[in-house]
This record gives sequence, structure tokens and C-alpha cells, in this order.
Amino acid sequence: MASPDRPSVTCPYLLWWRLFRELSRRGAGTRESGAFLLGTRKAGAATVRALVFYDDIDPNALSTGIVRLSGHAMNAVWQTCADRGLEVLADIHTHPGGAGQSRSDQEHPMVSMKGHLALIAPRFARSAFDLAGIGVYRYRGSKLWDDLPAPRPGWLGIRIRGA
Ligand SMILES: [Zn+2]
Repeated sequence: MASPDRPSVTCPYLLWWRLFRELSRRGAGTRESGAFLLGTRKAGAATVRALVFYDDIDPNALSTGIVRLSGHAMNAVWQTCADRGLEVLADIHTHPGGAGQSRSDQEHPMVSMKGHLALIAPRFARSAFDLAGIGVYRYRGSKLWDDLPAPRPGWLGIRIRGA
């Protein structure tokens, strides 16, 4: 059972496929790319409703090969959330190899709120079906993270954490 402070996040299949297609296209197999998963929460369960890709809100987000977002870009994310009644449920970015967190990933959460979820897609998000290869990390604060189980397929979409 998911408790209210640790809800599972469901990403509908169409959005999940679109997410991976776009991450892979934008990274072009040579650089990291990333996105925010925005959605709604109800009774301890959260559902992804929209994706915001880093390079759409910050033209320089992918330019160094490692994803970086300006403060201005973050404001755009919060504004999108406010306008559409959504919240940031998680972020995801790609890595060239495996899905382990880099030191930079650990020290610079995209959203430094306790409980924030950060996902890492291996091999530049080449496959939307390699769920076991995806890293899921939950922010504990003070640059510390919990390692969570890989996403799994569910009835309504890909489920992140939860049973
Ligand atoms: Zn990283």
C-alpha cells in the first residue's frame, strides 16, 4: 500500500512512449536530455498529465552535454503548473551509460524538496521498454537520496514506486 507521503506515480503509456521518444530524439544519442513530469495527485496516487522538456524552457539546457536549467526556466515550470493546476511529480534525464546518479545529480536536485523524485534513463533513453534499467531516486534533503525500485507496468500506465 502506498502511504500518502509516498504515493505511487502513474505515467499513462502514451505519455511514457512520447517521453522516451522525445528524450531520445532531443539527445540525438550524443548528449543528455531531460524533462519534468507534471500531473495531479488524488488520494495518495499521482498521475502524469503533461511533460515539459528542458530544452523547450531553456534553449541552453542541453548545450554542455549534461542537463542544466536556469532559474528563469524553473520559473516557467512553476508558472505552467500554476496555469494548468498541475504539480511537478518527478523529473527525468538521460545518461549515456547506466542509470546511477552522478555526484552532480546528487548535489543539484532539479527540485530540492524532500520527497522529490528524480529518474534516470540509461543509454540516452533508447528504449522505453527497458524499465528495469531505469534509476528512481527520492530526495531526502541534504544531498541525500533513497534508491527506489525501478518502474513497473501497471493497468493504466507505467507505475513509479508503490507495490
Ligand atoms: Zn545525471
